[in-house]
Amino acid sequence: MATFLWSDIVFGPIHSRRVGTSLGINLLPVCGKLCTFDCVYCECGALSSGAPKKDRKMPSFEQVSDAMSRRFKELYDEGVKVDSISFTGNGEPTLNQDFPEIVDKTVELRDKYFPTAVISVFSNSTTLEKRGVFDALMKIDNRIMKVDCSDIQLLQLVNRPAPGYSLERVLKNLERFNGNFILQTMFFKGVVEGQEFDLTAPELVAGWSDIVRRLRPAKIMAYSLDRDTPVAGLMKIPRERLQEVTAPLRAEGFEIEIF
Ligand code: SF4
Repeated sequence: MATFLWSDIVFGPIHSRRVGTSLGINLLPVCGKLCTFDCVYCECGALSSGAPKKDRKMPSFEQVSDAMSRRFKELYDEGVKVDSISFTGNGEPTLNQDFPEIVDKTVELRDKYFPTAVISVFSNSTTLEKRGVFDALMKIDNRIMKVDCSDIQLLQLVNRPAPGYSLERVLKNLERFNGNFILQTMFFKGVVEGQEFDLTAPELVAGWSDIVRRLRPAKIMAYSLDRDTPVAGLMKIPRERLQEVTAPLRAEGFEIEIF
């Protein structure tokens, strides 16, 4: 199945109706994914694909700072108006050893060149105990934090976390945001390792809804598969079904965006 890796530190701009003109920042190696998860749906491919692990080097603060400074200035000089700057890319952005310093630099460059742009990070929520990560996340506009499933056995099957993962610890860490974050959840169904599942099954939606009520995120992004996946046998959940399963939470006042 066709998956892909970003080949630059700064990529884009990408034009989207939802967020406008968007720049992506990839803090991970360009030759292979690095992540504390290995989700069956990851568009970067499987952890086992790409270059040998020993060759996967994260870009340093200096490399990221240089790349951002150069590209931001170029776009500014061309008169391009950037609406959004997002940390995403080939894995979990907060794993970069210089993440806190990079966030500070990004804020500085955003304020200089694109003061109205919104800075976002897409994270799998597993690194909030790392030194400086939580505080750095608090400095940006949108913390978009992943929790896909309340059932730990199914989570192990679909997110394939690194050893030592504890959902309860992740939830406790997310509580530290006091609801000041966006929860992102991928809903899909299929068969993995012979196990059939549907993340919109009533008991799974009930467990996930309890997590939402506990964390009270400012917003929820519920979405389904959009691109090829590294693992075969996965199926998209139609938008209407996502509307249906999230309706009770919406009725309770939660803001839920479906796409
Ligand atoms: S958390 Fe994101 S980057 Fe990591 S494996 Fe899952 S989809 Fe890929």
